[in-house]
Amino acid sequence: MPDEPHVRLESAAAHTDVLIVGGGLAGGAAAILLAEAGRSVTLLERTRGPHDKVCGEFLSGEALQYLHHLGVDVVPLGAKPITTLRFQHRSRCMQQQLPFAAASLTRRALDEALLGRACQAGALVLRGEAVQALTPTASGWLASASQGQHSATHAILATGKHDLRGHARTRPAARSSLRHDGLLAFNQYFRLTPQQTQALQGTVQIAVFPGGYCGLQLVEDGTANLGLLIQQNRLQSLGSSWPKLLEHVCAASPQMARYLHGAQPVLPKPLALAHIPYGYRRQTAPANLYAVGDQAAVIPSFSGDGMSIALHSGVLAARAILAGQSSRVFQRQLARQLRGPIALATFVSRALLHTPTFAAAAAPYLFRQIALHTRVPVQ
Ligand SMILES: Cc1cc2nc3c(=O)[nH]c(=O)nc-3n(C[C@H](O)[C@H](O)[C@H](O)COP(=O)(O)OP(=O)(O)OC[C@H]3O[C@@H](n4cnc5c(N)ncnc54)[C@H](O)[C@@H]3O)c2cc1C
Repeated sequence: MPDEPHVRLESAAAHTDVLIVGGGLAGGAAAILLAEAGRSVTLLERTRGPHDKVCGEFLSGEALQYLHHLGVDVVPLGAKPITTLRFQHRSRCMQQQLPFAAASLTRRALDEALLGRACQAGALVLRGEAVQALTPTASGWLASASQGQHSATHAILATGKHDLRGHARTRPAARSSLRHDGLLAFNQYFRLTPQQTQALQGTVQIAVFPGGYCGLQLVEDGTANLGLLIQQNRLQSLGSSWPKLLEHVCAASPQMARYLHGAQPVLPKPLALAHIPYGYRRQTAPANLYAVGDQAAVIPSFSGDGMSIALHSGVLAARAILAGQSSRVFQRQLARQLRGPIALATFVSRALLHTPTFAAAAAPYLFRQIALHTRVPVQ
């Protein structure tokens, strides 16, 4: 009886309508809607509690609208409104009003709020459950996790930057216009002086430096989040040293230097992320498996749209499951919707890195195009 162990494992696992692997924004959004619609939902999240993530933490207008629809109010969480974009390359500075109301809030606070809403809506949220394998069965999907097994008719893959064995993302082909790699991402929070804090109020400050770019904005506890992307070979030429990288940024950007002069880092060391498959879009899916968030598509970070795409795709996946739409159709439609925004964001991100003088000259136009055309439709 070769099938026996498999059958025994499956019957030992509690069976639900939907299993969600990963409790970030995409997984949390899907859990809320599905549980509200009366589906039995189990969400497995590997972390045990609130945690920091590599993210610029800029919430676009669409992200805020989605959060509002999902019943997550960011105001009591202390989100800081952002109305203005400031951009600097060498001595060239540009300031522009954003065409939508934006905000910033730490992922530590936001992700927990979303998971709290999912619990309220009736989803079973299991923390400290790291899924090692997600395999198809006769009745749907089976997740083998650190504390047990879970089976469901539908599964939602929402592990963000972390690929699950057997479901890994591939980078766009070497010659693809969407390929944009060799970048490392960092995040650090800084305690600024009262004057520096005052000068940054209501603003996201973007600066370009040789080999990369970064963004700085205040978050709810009054500290400032510095999110930074740099080409790997450029970081190596700086001795792979964080203090040297900060000096490099400040030497290229007097405005960033003014904000960071004397600023105190909050985390013992910056958070870091490598091998980000920018430009990726998942085109197809096995039956009853819906990939969402960074598992569905990865847009260059500076567009400030990754979180709205995560929420958008989580909402669409929930609606697809409720409407009985197949995962293949869902995945294809989502990939089609995101092609334009990802292509535009990739073009501008490459320009900032490879032709910064051109990008700086065209910045007012480019940022307006980005703000208007990388947006996902709120549905
Ligand atoms: C440098 C940088 C800056 C960025 N800045 C911005 C910005 O300013 N604005 C913006 O909108 N977007 C930004 N983004 C993009 C944004 O962070 C992502 O697009 C978004 O977090 C994707 O959400 P998600 O739910 O797909 O994944 P995540 O938020 O990564 O959540 C995935 C969850 O799955 C869990 N998980 C992973 N593996 C497992 C497993 N095996 N079992 C169980 N749980 C698991 C993780 O613990 C995590 O909580 C930035 C990205 C980077 C890299």
